[in-house]
Amino acid sequence: MSARAIDGNALSRHLRHEVSQRAATLREHGITPGLAVILVGENPASQVYVRNKVKACHDSGLHSVLEHYPAAMTEAELLARVQALNADPAIHGILVQLPLPPHIDAHRVIETIAPHKDVDGFHVASAGALMVGQPGFKPCTPYGCMKMLESIGYDPKGKHAVVIGRSNIVGKPMAMLLLQANATVTVCHSATPDLALHTRQADIVVAAVGKRNVLTADMVKPGAVVIDVGMNRDDHGKLCGDVDYAGVAKVAGWITPVPGGVGPMTITMLLMNTLESAERLVG
Ligand code: NAP
Repeated sequence: MSARAIDGNALSRHLRHEVSQRAATLREHGITPGLAVILVGENPASQVYVRNKVKACHDSGLHSVLEHYPAAMTEAELLARVQALNADPAIHGILVQLPLPPHIDAHRVIETIAPHKDVDGFHVASAGALMVGQPGFKPCTPYGCMKMLESIGYDPKGKHAVVIGRSNIVGKPMAMLLLQANATVTVCHSATPDLALHTRQADIVVAAVGKRNVLTADMVKPGAVVIDVGMNRDDHGKLCGDVDYAGVAKVAGWITPVPGGVGPMTITMLLMNTLESAERLVG
């Protein structure tokens, strides 16, 4: 078997077009969806990420402001900025780029974001809403993975999904979304003794670890859907995922590439969450 690739770039283009159209409709109601991105410090990777997010907003007709502060900014100053943005009617989504400098408590900062503007979906209120099946913002990466399944017409109902990784931003919300979609979900992590025992039984595998070759062909059931969230560098410095793509693609039914898979979907779902936040204002 040779797996079909799920093209995250093509799906992103399609969804961003939808965002642009819905944003245009909102503008007719006098509302331009607005995202505020806060960056503290000079982390080079974070600078690239926030630039990409702001550009994606502009390309889709969303208003976006980037607030870039020096690493010496105090926690109190940052909390005051978040509170000001909470009260700003032109802003429908607030994103504080992580990691923050070590003297700032990231959890306290995230908890200061008004839940109705928490478009990253990292607030405890968003996590709680997801847990109990109430409306709220879904974290962008797992939300994007669900959209990828939807795009291939794959219904997780009754399927066995194995999520590798249990972080608050990817693994756990991914498991909750799959559970909500009526999959039977197994969550594996660094203390799972025999990962392959679980993955070999899975109809869907989501790898969100941050280590190359965590999933190899011998660990995959023929025909399974494999979603690779990981972002790593190979020996030549090239971007790669957690999955041995060449090997697994010979066994799986569907597979997401890295790059060009989950990565572009994450920013796309940030745009979608910001749009949906603004849409809630007009019901
Ligand atoms: P994280 O917070 O470091 O979590 C990694 C998870 O993997 C942990 O739960 C850890 O288990 C588990 N793990 C580590 N080694 C393992 C092993 N050998 N077998 C099974 N599980 C293992 O990372 P994250 O933030 O979730 O991100 C995961 C990866 O996705 C990273 O490469 C990150 O760069 C990437 N990512 C990509 C996007 C995107 O847009 N494409 C977005 C977010 C993240 P313990 O809990 O036991 O430590």
